[in-house]
Amino acid sequence: MSTQSIKQQSDDHIMPSYSRNELVLAQGKGATVKDLDGKEYIDFGSGIGVNSLGFCDEKWLAAVTAQAGLLQHCSNLYYSVPQSLLAQKLSELTGYEKAFFANSGAEANECAIKLARKYSFDKYGGTRNKIITLKNSFHGRTVTTITATGQEAFHNYFFPFTPGFVYADPEDISDLKAKLDEDVCAVMFEFIQGEGGVVPLDVDYVEELFALCGERDILTIADEVQSGIGRTGTVLASELFGVKPDITTVAKGLGGGLPIGACLAGEELAQVLSSGMHGSTFGGNPVACAGALAVLDRLGNEAFLYEVTHKGDILAEALEDLDGIAAVTGAGLMLGAELETAQAKDIAAAALKEGLIVLTAKDKLRFLPPLVITEEELKKGIAILTKVLKGE
Ligand SMILES: *Cc1c(COP(=O)(O)O)cnc(C)c1O
Repeated sequence: MSTQSIKQQSDDHIMPSYSRNELVLAQGKGATVKDLDGKEYIDFGSGIGVNSLGFCDEKWLAAVTAQAGLLQHCSNLYYSVPQSLLAQKLSELTGYEKAFFANSGAEANECAIKLARKYSFDKYGGTRNKIITLKNSFHGRTVTTITATGQEAFHNYFFPFTPGFVYADPEDISDLKAKLDEDVCAVMFEFIQGEGGVVPLDVDYVEELFALCGERDILTIADEVQSGIGRTGTVLASELFGVKPDITTVAKGLGGGLPIGACLAGEELAQVLSSGMHGSTFGGNPVACAGALAVLDRLGNEAFLYEVTHKGDILAEALEDLDGIAAVTGAGLMLGAELETAQAKDIAAAALKEGLIVLTAKDKLRFLPPLVITEEELKKGIAILTKVLKGE
């Protein structure tokens, strides 16, 4: 097997919907990963915010393999131990009493949308079903979640899109206010727009959004698929903004590499989706839940979250000092860097050649390293980026 043969085989048989780097990742440990030829890379991307404990964390691996050896799947017609424990642990850590388990971020958001519409249907009837989302947002790739995504570029080809979505300008509270009419049942947003370029909402905007929704019994839905599960140095990014949304969705980092998403809600929404109204064959799979439990076990330790914040500060300060970087945004280990003149895509490609995996979002570099990255790995990665930005 060579990189070329794997590339050829993939290109021959996989739909070309991704633009891939010419790199076959083969094996990793922590925040360091090797390609097929054994060349090492520092990982500042964690598979787009997924490998929260890095590659092959020992406790995660033990939990996942033990569960696979006991019971790999049983469907939601029965109870399973890991799913039950995970629901309990999520409730403890987030303060939400109820979870619905899905397999991805988009699916967690689909559940949130159904939950909000059904809540409003029960209380106010069928026409109060509009959902406001924010411009420059990203909520997933299903037909409904691309409709929810507030970016024109996504709203093409796949007509007709799901009705009932309206987009508000996140920099203009009066725009939101004007759009909150009597047909609106929910406002959905990311505290830090990830795909949109690591752009945090303004704290005052968030405060007003919550006040406006609260007055009107309009539900707040926080899409924390990227920002949640320790990424920002808190269990949820909402803690940084001092608010508690009615519904929060999480996914990416939750399973530590296994596909799982969750839609979280409080007691007041507990009875909205009753038997038969929503479901998923794979959702809450025991192996994925065992992986997620290993992630949450780590997150339950305050020192761990403190470390995430600390390492985030180290990375942010180093980036701010680099020639060629104009501004740094984000929180914890979810950071974006605006470049002075260079193109983010070119810098990311050059970094890869030098042994650093870094993501882009819009015209920025994006950093989502594993939460367990060591300071040494951080320094190695920063050194590579420094060299690349100098154009050496
Ligand atoms: C990645 C992402 C999604 C979609 O998650 P998938 O697992 O790819 O379906 C939704 N919302 C946000 C904020 C994301 O970052």
